[in-house]
Amino acid sequence: MLDAVVIGAGPNGLTAAVELARRGMSVEVFEARDTIGGGARTEELTLPGFRHDPCSAVHPTGIGSPAFRALPLERYGLEWLHPELPMAHPFPDGSAAVLARSVGETARSLGVRDAGTYRRLVEPFRGKWDTLARDMMRGVLEGFPRDPVTLARFGLAGVPPVTVLNSRFRDEKARAVLAGCAAHVIHPLSGIATGAIALTFVLAAHAYGWPIARGGSQAIPDALAGYLRDQGGEIHTDYEVKRLDDLPPARAYIFDTSPTALARIAGLGNAFSRYRYGPSAFKIDYALSGPVPWTSEAARRAGTVHVGPTAADIGRALRDVHQGRAPERPFLITSQPTLTDPSRAPEGKHTFWAYGHAPNGWTGNLTDAVEAQLERFAPGFRDLVLARATAGPPELAARNANYVGGDIGVGSFSGLQTLLRPKPRRIPYATSHPAVFLCSSATPPGGGVHGMCGHNAARAAWRRIRETRR
Ligand SMILES: Cc1cc2nc3c(=O)[nH]c(=O)nc-3n(C[C@H](O)[C@H](O)[C@H](O)COP(=O)(O)OP(=O)(O)OC[C@H]3O[C@@H](n4cnc5c(N)ncnc54)[C@H](O)[C@@H]3O)c2cc1C
Repeated sequence: MLDAVVIGAGPNGLTAAVELARRGMSVEVFEARDTIGGGARTEELTLPGFRHDPCSAVHPTGIGSPAFRALPLERYGLEWLHPELPMAHPFPDGSAAVLARSVGETARSLGVRDAGTYRRLVEPFRGKWDTLARDMMRGVLEGFPRDPVTLARFGLAGVPPVTVLNSRFRDEKARAVLAGCAAHVIHPLSGIATGAIALTFVLAAHAYGWPIARGGSQAIPDALAGYLRDQGGEIHTDYEVKRLDDLPPARAYIFDTSPTALARIAGLGNAFSRYRYGPSAFKIDYALSGPVPWTSEAARRAGTVHVGPTAADIGRALRDVHQGRAPERPFLITSQPTLTDPSRAPEGKHTFWAYGHAPNGWTGNLTDAVEAQLERFAPGFRDLVLARATAGPPELAARNANYVGGDIGVGSFSGLQTLLRPKPRRIPYATSHPAVFLCSSATPPGGGVHGMCGHNAARAAWRRIRETRR
């Protein structure tokens, strides 16, 4: 009998498998697609020689992940590359606010009236990322934090909506930066804990930066898989798990799937019938003949560029999506990997990664709205487009069964689910079946390529494995 079977070879599934294998347990992973990686892959989506990341591209919580930092992933080919600036947020007048590695440079870019407020906001957390990340990247009811004072400070600032955090600032630049960071969870800015999302991205920039992986995001699962195989783990691809009986007998089954898929496969009936899925995205991967011609000089040096002039504009786009409407002027999260890693495109050419938000299950086409936004801040952008690959909610859902209705967060960031997902439980990775565990981004700490859901789920599973071995 195997110690564990993992269903799904995304970053969380692979991390869970690695954590068990490195402790001497026998593990096999079963992945539905013909390649591993889930939301961290790299593919030639447009033209020969252009290597695109269809899903994740930028990894602030990856480089800052306590799980990844404890693994020898560099030995297995993962190399983080840092852009000159982690993030720029351009404005229509050609200026930009930036998230730099340095707090000082960031504060200065926000303008004199808000620089001090920004310093005071981030100062209590400086040098504390590693402990804070351990404390916040797990279930809220799980055990005692290592640094309760810093965690409480983070909670006080972050649990209220980002609009409350923004009320500390006097001008638009700081507000737009924080709103843009909070928007990564695709929820209205008035939502509880949206402040924590913004603060996490900001603190991550100052702690370890917002890097990309050399060669593409696929390098992350590839490194995890390389290490897993060296520890004796096995991976089977092209193997969609439909029932537990499809799998070899094991002491624990760890699902890197949506909660509803887990319930269906493991025969847990309506265990997660109250789980809610959230909005989606409209993703465009571009092959470009040159770099994006941003009017803002800072945007031309940044790995990530947020496009949405004011916090109010960003809030409006998020509200539209939440209410089931496609936004007229979508807020865009964009990444320009070839500025930092030219190996991903033929010489002199570039790849560009952009998405706006869209309602769950929406079947329209957001390309014109996305490009109209880009033209406002980078006139001439369209002239550089050699090819584009688009994916709206149905295509995203078809690429990965976890994205129910195209929900790239695998669960909406609203109500009780914001803090207690997939449902209120002391160990959120456990289920009503003692041998069945959930490790996907539907569990804390949620979306992103950081492996922390897998790391935490593996801890829950190995207690069970040890008991049943005895
Ligand atoms: C457009 C987009 C942009 C993103 N940008 C970023 C970013 O820049 N930075 C970042 O950190 N994160 C980003 N993310 C989010 C990130 O990709 C996910 O949060 C992350 O991949 C979640 O990891 P996971 O292991 O939980 O699940 P996934 O990566 O989704 O992996 C789940 C795996 O399980 C497999 N699977 C599902 N059901 C079955 C089954 N029945 N049998 C077998 N296998 C199954 C799937 O095929 C998949 O390979 C982005 C996501 C999208 C879609």
